[in-house]
Amino acid sequence: MEQRISLRARLCLAFILFTVIVSVLMWLFEVVLLEGFYYASKIRETEKTAISLIAAYGTEGFDDYLTNVSFSDQICIEILDTRNRVAYERDVMNQKCLLHGPHNYNTLYNMLMELQEDSDGIIRRNVFDEQIGLNTFVFGCKLGKGDKVEGYLFLNTALEPVGAAINIMKRMLMYISILLLIIGVLIAFYLSNWLAVPIVRITKSAHRLAHGDFNTKFEGGSYREVDELARTLTYAEQQLSRVDSMQRDLIANVSHDLRTPLTMLKAYAEMIRDISGDNPVKRNAHLQVIIDETDRLAMLVNDILDLSKLENGSVRPDMQTFDITVRMEDIISRYKGISEKMGYHIHFTPDEPIEVTCDPAQIERVICNLINNAINYTGEDKNVYVRQVNAPEGVRIEVRDTGKGIEEDKIAKIFDKYYRSENHKREVVGTGLGLSIVKAILKMHEFHYGVSSTLGEGSVFWFVIKNS
Ligand code: ADP
Repeated sequence: MEQRISLRARLCLAFILFTVIVSVLMWLFEVVLLEGFYYASKIRETEKTAISLIAAYGTEGFDDYLTNVSFSDQICIEILDTRNRVAYERDVMNQKCLLHGPHNYNTLYNMLMELQEDSDGIIRRNVFDEQIGLNTFVFGCKLGKGDKVEGYLFLNTALEPVGAAINIMKRMLMYISILLLIIGVLIAFYLSNWLAVPIVRITKSAHRLAHGDFNTKFEGGSYREVDELARTLTYAEQQLSRVDSMQRDLIANVSHDLRTPLTMLKAYAEMIRDISGDNPVKRNAHLQVIIDETDRLAMLVNDILDLSKLENGSVRPDMQTFDITVRMEDIISRYKGISEKMGYHIHFTPDEPIEVTCDPAQIERVICNLINNAINYTGEDKNVYVRQVNAPEGVRIEVRDTGKGIEEDKIAKIFDKYYRSENHKREVVGTGLGLSIVKAILKMHEFHYGVSSTLGEGSVFWFVIKNS
């Protein structure tokens, strides 16, 4: 069998993968996006500062405002008047800026030229100063009231400090990733145990069940699916146990029922050989026992074969339409001879003659089996009552006896194969399969059937030949 990866390993892998994906995403964000994001927001803020400076130009305290902004936002500021003279100057980057650094003159001059040539010119530029090795943002614009140019404003801010912050964050990210991985693996372990342990336990129980231990307990777990699995397996176990005990009963009953007539056959055959062989009267009596026992054996074997044929579906009902009343009268008249000799009375109460559609031979068997049982189990008065009732849904046939009745808990079992009450006597003819055959035939026809019984008063077995 192909060795599949276990639930535990699969979950662990899934969690590790998840942690790795999260970490990679975080790294990507920090390394690739954060720098860009930081630069963009720094530039945006510098531009905002520039706009506020332009608006504040000419107001009282403008110089103080410039100094404040310069320190708080770490921006170098340079203002030139129209004659290129310095009107304001603030360096917060220790000469590392483009405005005040070593080659500031050129830069400043070039930008000034640009602004002067361009009527509405604004300079926004991200410049990498190779000499200093610094990434900076320069902003330049004109200052003045209305259209009149009164000076030029230049701002310069460093974009670099993010590098250091990123390094710290990278280290933090590494710790977070490791922590995430550990937490992920721990959760995976916990989760997989939580999921797998009950399954492993149930699998072990199922193995025990497979080896025939029907007392195995299937315990659920802490979640619904595994509880359901445990319940289903417990149900399967009960069914298996039932089948198993039925099979044992079957073997015990069949072997018992076979052994008794066989022993008698042997005993009587020996008796004829050794004792009664020359005495015609005794011999005939003994031969009659042998014939009766052989009939009993044949009946048992036939019932077993018929039932197995009915149950495996190899016989189908041969549907015919016939008058059920006539048929019932015919069946009961056949009982008259034997039953009355033994003092039994079968009372038949027919309804209006009516036609039904079903397999006549099989339905006759059902009726006979029920009457046989009623004769076998009826009370001292030896009465059996058979009724035909024409109901809207079909023809209901009832067979009632006046016997001891059947206990509530046994009623469910009597239609099972080889179920026999403990008071079953050998004098009571029967193979223990009569009702199973009744059930199989009625089920095949899809007819309703049942029994109602009152202890001490007797039982009524009934079925309904439904209208076709
Ligand atoms: P058998 O009668 O050969 O034992 P059945 O399958 O016909 O086998 O019946 C199964 C069991 O049902 C019987 O052993 C008996 O305990 C019970 N039973 C059947 N019919 C009746 C009845 N009319 N009254 C009481 N018990 C009955």
